[in-house]
Amino acid sequence: MKIRYFDHAATTCVREEVLNEMLPFLKEKCGNPSSLYSLGREAKRAIEEARKKVALLINCEPNEIYFTGGGSESDNMAIKGIAYANSNKGKHIITSKIEHPAVLHTCKKLERQGFRVTYLNVNKDGIIDLEELRRAIRNDTILISIMTVNNEIGTIEPIYEISRIAKMYNITLHSDSVQGVGHIPIDVKKMGIDMLSLSGHKLCAPKGIGALYIKNGIKIEKLIDGGHQERDKRAGTENVPGMVGLGKACEIARIELDRSMKYLKDLRDYYIDEIEKKIPNAIFNGSRNLRVAGNANFSFKGIDAQNLLLKLDEKGICASSGSACSSGDSSPSHVLKAIGLSDDMAKVALRISFGEENTKEDVDYLIENIIKAIRELS
Ligand SMILES: *Cc1c(COP(=O)(O)O)cnc(C)c1O
Repeated sequence: MKIRYFDHAATTCVREEVLNEMLPFLKEKCGNPSSLYSLGREAKRAIEEARKKVALLINCEPNEIYFTGGGSESDNMAIKGIAYANSNKGKHIITSKIEHPAVLHTCKKLERQGFRVTYLNVNKDGIIDLEELRRAIRNDTILISIMTVNNEIGTIEPIYEISRIAKMYNITLHSDSVQGVGHIPIDVKKMGIDMLSLSGHKLCAPKGIGALYIKNGIKIEKLIDGGHQERDKRAGTENVPGMVGLGKACEIARIELDRSMKYLKDLRDYYIDEIEKKIPNAIFNGSRNLRVAGNANFSFKGIDAQNLLLKLDEKGICASSGSACSSGDSSPSHVLKAIGLSDDMAKVALRISFGEENTKEDVDYLIENIIKAIRELS
């Protein structure tokens, strides 16, 4: 059976051009970037080229990019890094209730270590309240961490306004932009972001590679001790193929972003229109306007999401009930609860995240099978 994949917010396949760029570094060009002979120097050159491409996509300097083992590590590195480096100045952190577990669980751990964390509410669209942010700031606030784009409902947070507030009070701003980079235009200088997390596998590079942007001048305590790699901020022999792949994926994203956003938005809007026309009691989750191009999230009253996903799986359709991170865990999504859904409505959500290889015919097939499955399950 043909697999139709509508879960690009969970992960993506590696693009052919990305794989081709990586292959030599998995095979003959296997030198350690720290080695002095030419094979090592070649690997070193390749990772510096990749660093430039990542930097270009988000408009920072190459020496502000630190490669990591993925989005979760970048979030940990940013938040713990700032917390441990500044605990003599203050121990208060502000974040939101709808962050990814990589941010939320990191903050929970810091709370157990004596830090204080404020978790901002969001409105029914999933957007934080700037006034509440302003009120939450204290003399000892050392970090604001607000995601760029939410992974479940696709809401885009007002980062420009958030950074203006952070600057006013001289507080470091981190943004988990794993769902943002490669999906919406990101310019860390214009947006006033001090630290930003991104991950390879959400933009057609491999899993297990990511990056953290750290604005020059910002000091963090490093998490992984060892050698002097990544300018002494993250020890360990470099994942050269991963870095090369991430660089290529960022280069492609930069060139194709406008076209890709339009393509995905058209698919998404078509899907949303059809669902609302054909399934009258479908409840739309998230913001209609401030939304990433590829995401659509509906709750289908009375239809258990796990059963719906199994029915769709029988038809070769991959979709999600929220986030892959909470699958196998039947507790309702913290994001959907934060936007005001009851436990019942949070358990019946279906997240569709479109990608480049999806066609309009695929979307028709998807809609047809959602309708069929709902009929069978009700
Ligand atoms: C996927 C994701 C992460 C985690 O990235 P990994 O590379 O899987 O560790 C963090 N934040 C958001 C918003 C994500 O969607």
